[in-house]
Amino acid sequence: AEAALRRAQTLEAVGQLTAGVAHDFNNLLQAIRSGLFLLAPRVPEASRKVVDASLQAVDRGAKLVRQLMVFSRREALQPRPVDPRALIAGVGELLQKAVGAPVAIETAIAPDIAAAMVDPTQAELAVLNLAINARDAMPQGGTLTIGARNARLAAPQGAAPAGDYVVLSVADTGIGMLPEVLERVLEPFFTTKAVGKGTGLGLSMVHGFVTGSGGDMQIESRPGIGTTVSLWLPRAEAPALPEERPAQQARAAAG
Ligand code: ADP
Repeated sequence: AEAALRRAQTLEAVGQLTAGVAHDFNNLLQAIRSGLFLLAPRVPEASRKVVDASLQAVDRGAKLVRQLMVFSRREALQPRPVDPRALIAGVGELLQKAVGAPVAIETAIAPDIAAAMVDPTQAELAVLNLAINARDAMPQGGTLTIGARNARLAAPQGAAPAGDYVVLSVADTGIGMLPEVLERVLEPFFTTKAVGKGTGLGLSMVHGFVTGSGGDMQIESRPGIGTTVSLWLPRAEAPALPEERPAQQARAAAG
C-alpha cells in the first residue's frame, strides 16, 4: 500500500510538472529542431555527424515529452465499445515498422470475443507499448503473441471488480525479468534500458490506463523464458460500431 501511495504521488507530481512545462518544452525542442535542420546542409561533411546526433537527441526529447503529455491527459479517457479484432489489426500495422525482422508476430483471438469498454486511442497505445517492450526483450528474435479472450472475475482482482472482462495479452519469448526488476516495473521512470532508449514510463502509463478504465493488469515473467502482460478490460454492454478504427488517432499520438 505504501508503494502504491508513493507511485500515486509520483504520478501526481509528473502530471503537474507536465501541465506546466511540457507544452513550452515542446516548442523549444521544435525551435532547436528547425535550427538544426536549416544548418544541416551548410555544415562541412566532417561535422555532419554532430548535427545528426543532435537531431536524434531532440527527437528523443520530443518523444519523452509526448509520453509525459499522454500521461497527464489520462483523466480525459473516453470509453466506448471497442472491437479487440480491429484494435489488434491496427496495432499489427504499426508493429510492422517497430519490429525487426527476426520477431514473428502471432495473434490468438477467441472467435466469440466481446467488445471492451475503453478509450480506443489509449487502448491501442497501451498494446503498442507492451509490444515494443516485447520486441526490446527479444534482441535475438522470437515470437510475439497478441491475444484476446473473454473472461469472468468471480471476485475482485487488483483494481478490477467482479464481472465480465476482455483480456488482451501480449506475450514474448524474450529475456524475462528477475524478481527485483518485476517488483519495480510500475515505478514511473524505472527502466533497465540504455539512456535514451527507455523512459521507464511505458508500464506505469499502461497501468494507469487500465485501472482508470476499471480494469487490472497482470504481469507474469520468467528469466530466460519470457513475459506475458495481460490487460483486464471491462466488457462493453453494446457491440463496437463497425467503423470504429482507432489506428489513425493512435498513430498520431504514438508518433
Ligand atoms: P521502458 O520500456 O522505457 O524501460 P517500461 O515502464 O515500459 O519502461 O518498462 C520498465 C522496465 O520493465 C523495462 O526497462 C524492462 O526492464 C522491464 N520490462 C518491461 N517489459 C518487459 C518485457 N516484455 N520483457 C522483459 N522486461 C520487460
